[in-house]
Amino acid sequence: MEKATLEKFKNLFLEILSEEELSAGKLFPVSLEGDEVDIVSVEKQNQMDFRLKARNTIFMKKVKKSLQKIEDGTFGECEECGTEISNNRLIARPTADLCIQCKEAEEKEENQLIHRNKKSIKNGKVLPIEQLERGFKADETGTSNFHVRHMDYQDIVG
Ligand SMILES: [Zn+2]
Repeated sequence: MEKATLEKFKNLFLEILSEEELSAGKLFPVSLEGDEVDIVSVEKQNQMDFRLKARNTIFMKKVKKSLQKIEDGTFGECEECGTEISNNRLIARPTADLCIQCKEAEEKEENQLIHRNKKSIKNGKVLPIEQLERGFKADETGTSNFHVRHMDYQDIVG
């Protein structure tokens, strides 16, 4: 990756982190989708706050990890196969760990696991712990587009 491009990503990540520090303790929605907007009680609001906070923490971890990769000189490399992640993909999702091929392969695998989990629940079987963890991971990575999230974030902080 070109040095100038790398610099841009680095600045973006640093900017996100400094904004996060400025708003430390303050809560802001990362994304609102569908029925999450329909708040009917304080209890429900608290539940949502917790979920958003958790989601945001995961995102901040990814940002820090990406910065570390820039330092290590591994930013933009697929963690799975080592090929360069396309610029388009990185622009859409700067914290991407996998190239599109590996990501698709992983999602396919996760969908199969979720499908199998559903079947197991139906049959009343207890799930192996690693399958539950994989299910959680699928939820973690299934977050919405970076730009939308970043814009929401700026709208609220700024
Ligand atoms: Zn790959």
